[in-house]
Order: sequence, then C-alpha cells, then structure tokens
Amino acid sequence: MSNYKNIESALVHGGIYGDKHTGAVNVPIYQTSTYQQEGLGQNKGWEYSRTGNPTRAALEALIAELEHGEAGFAFASGMAAITAVLSLFKSGDSVIISSNVYGGTFRVLDKIFSNFDIGYSIEDTTDIASLDKKITPQVRAILVESPANPLLTVTDIAAVAGIAKKHGIISIVDNTFMTPYIQRPIELGADIVIHSATKYLGGHSDLIAGLVVVNSGKLAEKLAFIQNATGSVLSPFDSFLLIRGIKTLGVRMDRHVENAEKTAAYLEKHKGVKKVYYPGLPDAQGYHVNKNQARNGGAMISFELHENYDISKFFSSLKLIALAESLGGVESLVCHPASMTHASIPKETRQKVGITDSLIRLSAGIENIGDLIFDIEQAISKSEVQL
Ligand SMILES: *Cc1c(COP(=O)(O)O)cnc(C)c1O
Repeated sequence: MSNYKNIESALVHGGIYGDKHTGAVNVPIYQTSTYQQEGLGQNKGWEYSRTGNPTRAALEALIAELEHGEAGFAFASGMAAITAVLSLFKSGDSVIISSNVYGGTFRVLDKIFSNFDIGYSIEDTTDIASLDKKITPQVRAILVESPANPLLTVTDIAAVAGIAKKHGIISIVDNTFMTPYIQRPIELGADIVIHSATKYLGGHSDLIAGLVVVNSGKLAEKLAFIQNATGSVLSPFDSFLLIRGIKTLGVRMDRHVENAEKTAAYLEKHKGVKKVYYPGLPDAQGYHVNKNQARNGGAMISFELHENYDISKFFSSLKLIALAESLGGVESLVCHPASMTHASIPKETRQKVGITDSLIRLSAGIENIGDLIFDIEQAISKSEVQL
C-alpha cells in the first residue's frame, strides 16, 4: 500500500502525511478544543480534542506504524503513558517489573497504584527460567525495559513475551532507550510498547511526552477509553514538535550510536576506567540476546572509575558534556545515578545491584566524537587523585 519499505522512509512519510486541504507537507497544528457539528449526530469525525485531535492523531498513527502495532496513543509525559497502561488493571491484580525499571515506574506502583490495591513484585527478568515460576494467579502483566537503566541490563523480550502468552497475561516493554529505529518489541511478541518520547523520539530536550502502542484491537479500545476518560493527552503543539523530531530519528540515532560505540571502546582501554557497561561490547551481559533483538547496542553507556579518581571532580571538570538528568537529546549528558536518577533506592540495595557511588551514566549526543572524547579525557585526568 505504501510507497516505501524501510523505517528510514517511514520516519519521514509515515502516519498521516501532510495536509490534504492545502498541500502543506506538514500536518498543521490544529490548535482547537472543539469542532463545529453540521447537525445533530453529524460531524467530520472530530468532536472534542481530549477525545481526538488531528495533529495528535497524525502522531499516534505514526508511532503505531513505526512500532508495527495496531494503534498508538499520545500522552502528556512518559509517566502519563505508563499510568494509562497500568490503569488497565484492577484491584487485586499484580504486575511484575524488572529489577531496574525506570524509578518513576516503580514510584507510581509503590505510592499510587498500591492505594488501589494493585500490587507489584520486582524480579530479575534476565533469568527467564525463574521468571516463569513467579507468575501467580494475581499477576496480570510483566513490564520490562531492555536495555535497562543504569547498568544497561539486557532482557530477552521474545522470551518474556512467550512466558506472558503461556500464562494468558500481558507483556509490556518500555522501549525508550532503543526507539523503534533500533528495536521493535511488538515484532518480538510484546503486547504493549511504551515510550518516554521526551528522550530520543523528541530528540532535542525541548518537550515532555509519552506514547503507547498496542498490538490488538481489544487493547486499542481499552486504551482509547482510558486516554479519553483520564485525559492526560499530549497538546497539538507538542504533538507537532514530536512528529518533527521523529522525522530525523534515523540520522540522529546513527550518529548517537556511532559516538556511543567509539566512546565505549575508548573507555574500555582507559587505565582509569574500572568497568564499562554497554550492550554493544562483545563481553557485555546480554550481548548476544541484544544482537538478536536489536539493530545495535543503542547510545547509552555507563562506566565506573577506579577508586583513585574523584567522581565529583570528574563531573565538575567536564566542559562540553552537561551534568543533567534525562537522555536522548542531541547534546551529550552525564549523570550520577547514585545521587540523581536512582537516589530514591536505599544505598544497600543500590550497592547490591551494582549502582555504586562511582558509576557514571553517559547519553552520547551527536557532537563530533573527537570533541566528546577530548572532554572525557581531560575530565578523567583532572579527577585523578595523587596518592
Ligand atoms: C524518562 C523515562 C520515563 C518517564 O518519562 P517522562 O517523559 O519523564 O515522564 C519512563 N521510562 C524511561 C525508561 C525513561 O527514561
């Protein structure tokens, strides 16, 4: 039906292309809350913008096409998207989450959904055999991220989806770190894909947005109901910005990944670096699984410096790379998981799972690789403590 076969073209032409009324090559920003009806029960398919808006609809059609799903839904943030998906469950139900899901996903289950008697359990989803034994009658879904934050742990998505199918429950994948350009969980058997589109899909650190894609008409109907009933929809302007960001996802990801691969290789050889976590390195945990389910290792790297390096000196010495939460923007960002993104996890638990105080997380941007490595090099060297 379409005039292209590959995702690079779908990123540019997918979903609803242009505006048929004027020939504009971009979908206009339909900045409207309501739509004039021709008569009772007669309208052009649009009634009220919480229920549906043409700019948002173009984005929703685009992400559904990119993830090879049945339908897409756009929300005001990644957390709003996750909250909408968790609203599929009812009191007495429980959800399995992998041990290193995004902190906000854990928090919303622990502090909000628990009030409605929706439970959760935390499991090591890399251990497929033991995961199968953890499915009690209360468990209605398994939610995973691969690779997961901040140690870039890889989970076998097809295996998790297989276990979910066997038990008649739902598999959910937060695909934020990879994007459909690198990994498509629905093709691997997952039922629902979630994105914090704030990250790579938006790509420019200038918006907050969330997306959900489902693989069946039944789930699409339920999510459409939840989206309209609870109302945390994405605005027409942010929908437009996100469509604009997605058009360049392919070229941006190619550069992000190239920079990440070169940085990981550089760090691995550095005498000051104790350990590098990057799923694209052949000795990484889950390297082969990741190779089977994803195009490459993505663009997120974590690494640890040896004890004789002062971690706060490292951060304060960086000149080009910014110290900030978030990831996936064109600019390279570093963060300190132990005191920033993962500070809410008790220190003992952090240490046990490998989130040590010397762990550094890097979101490789699209700058010149020489400039990036030069900045890391000088910061590592300034942070060395003379013993
Ligand atoms: C950032 C992030 C979220 C939350 O998304 P927001 O857009 O910040 O609400 C969820 N999952 C992952 C993996 C993330 O990185």
